[in-house]
Amino acid sequence: MRGSIGNITEKCVGCNRCVRVCPIDEANITREKDGAITVEVDGSKCIICGSCLTACRRGGAR
Ligand code: SF4
Ligand code: SF4
Repeated sequence: MRGSIGNITEKCVGCNRCVRVCPIDEANITREKDGAITVEVDGSKCIICGSCLTACRRGGAR
């Protein structure tokens, strides 16, 4: 991981807002875990633009 973005916290509700605004294919990846949708950031692809942080209304993306 090359930046500080990449932690999706327990506050994430899987709304996908962060995924929709991400300009990089596959930097934000949606996964199903224990029946809930969560998002993971791939630090090798993320350009640290901050769009996901702005888009998240839950404090899920850090
Ligand atoms: S915008 Fe926030 S709450 Fe929604 S999926 Fe992304 S990290 Fe989770
Ligand atoms: S910081 Fe930008 S590039 Fe990285 S995951 Fe968030 S929206 Fe995508």
